[in-house]
Amino acid sequence: MKTLSVIDTPLHIGKSIELYGWVETKRDHRKIVFLDIRDRTGIVQVIGDERMKSLTPESVVLIKGLVKKRPEKLINPKIPTGEIEIEAQEFEVLSAANALPMPIDSDGYEIDEEVRLKYRYLDLRRKRMARNMRLRSQSVHFIRSFLMNHDFIEVDTPILTKATPEGARDFLVPSRLQKGSFYALPQSPQQYKQLLMVAGIERYFQIARCFRDEDPRADRAYGEFTQLDLEMSFVTQKDIMQLTEELFTKMILELFPDKKISQSPWPRLNHADAMKKYGTDKPDLRKDKKDPNELAFAWTIDFPLFTEQSEEDYFHGSGKSKFAPSHHMFTAPHPDDIKLLDTDPGKVRGQQHDLVLNGYEVGGGSIRIHDPAIQKKIFELIGFSEKQKGQFSHMLEAFTYGVPPHGGIAPGIDRLLMAILGEPSLREIIPFPATSGGKTSIMSAPSPATDAQLEELGISVTEK
Ligand code: ASP
Repeated sequence: MKTLSVIDTPLHIGKSIELYGWVETKRDHRKIVFLDIRDRTGIVQVIGDERMKSLTPESVVLIKGLVKKRPEKLINPKIPTGEIEIEAQEFEVLSAANALPMPIDSDGYEIDEEVRLKYRYLDLRRKRMARNMRLRSQSVHFIRSFLMNHDFIEVDTPILTKATPEGARDFLVPSRLQKGSFYALPQSPQQYKQLLMVAGIERYFQIARCFRDEDPRADRAYGEFTQLDLEMSFVTQKDIMQLTEELFTKMILELFPDKKISQSPWPRLNHADAMKKYGTDKPDLRKDKKDPNELAFAWTIDFPLFTEQSEEDYFHGSGKSKFAPSHHMFTAPHPDDIKLLDTDPGKVRGQQHDLVLNGYEVGGGSIRIHDPAIQKKIFELIGFSEKQKGQFSHMLEAFTYGVPPHGGIAPGIDRLLMAILGEPSLREIIPFPATSGGKTSIMSAPSPATDAQLEELGISVTEK
């Protein structure tokens, strides 16, 4: 294993070292060659002789040399290794690099995104992207340890599963063992996390991958995205909001010290008031929209339980109802409005809470229905056919064996970090995002299956 990192080279003044890295830049000065050698921790200057002239940028090298303090005048205060340089005695080219298909020394916004995604492994060498990946990992680590310290446990839920409608189209995976049947990739772990409450877990979380076959939009990722999925038993909406607020406030303080949260506690907006005042349920409450470091969090609550059903709704089909759930069908009605379910369902408020940051909806959740009779009523109101109801009979049954009242939330990791970092697109946060045309980065999936594969699955493809 490589033992010395660039950032630690100043600790070895006067000593011989071996350093592995990439040639970030090369400057020829007749008999002397200056290199900047880069690794994940930074860059350091190396001085060598004519033998290094043939080195190409981005080649991977091993430098053997002496660490020397730079003369006072030549100190570069802009980099942490600026007080030293390495006098190379020997070097080895471990891998010579061809000219790159795009520059990687800029922030990259100016480069055609298709090219960036085709060469994502080079794009991620870019300083801004390397930093985004590091912050993403640190954020997930922070979230995990915060929640573990609050007595949550992380539980995996299946990826090959049954539809959990969150209002989008499902991705289907054909089954070989049961020809003609399909798994659906989860749009969220919603049903499993509720079943984990029946299981007595009480405090669950998961850094969960979710799959939704939606048309690409700027603030949505095509295909898959990651959310912090969490669920708790014996809680109120206030408890969920408070925990989320403490988690992200502490995370921002620790990992994003330049950012300032404009208002604490985060304002809680009533849905109807927000619509009246801002014309949206996710208003951008920043005091100064030009300030890249301002973070204006808010909660929107008291949503109507139902919205009007549209033709694309999963629930459509029976054609008998004008109602679709505004969050999802497991969201509990406001306790004061239960009676209205029979008389005026359009007026029922749901116990839904949306988390808003700088004008983006970065998370949503709710208190759930735990009374099978109310759950059945909601299925009726959204016009479920008997067959559709049957697909959720396991939930209704589970709720007959002792279910704690429960609720949760699922902030999007990609979306939240995009808003915190002020990035223009989710694709700046996701390591290997799909292109706007729905192709995966680098490998350009989807691609046709072989005839043998199709035969095994009992599938025939009709050409369009
Ligand atoms: N499953 C919901 C979603 O993905 C979040 C939740 O209700 O916890 O939006």
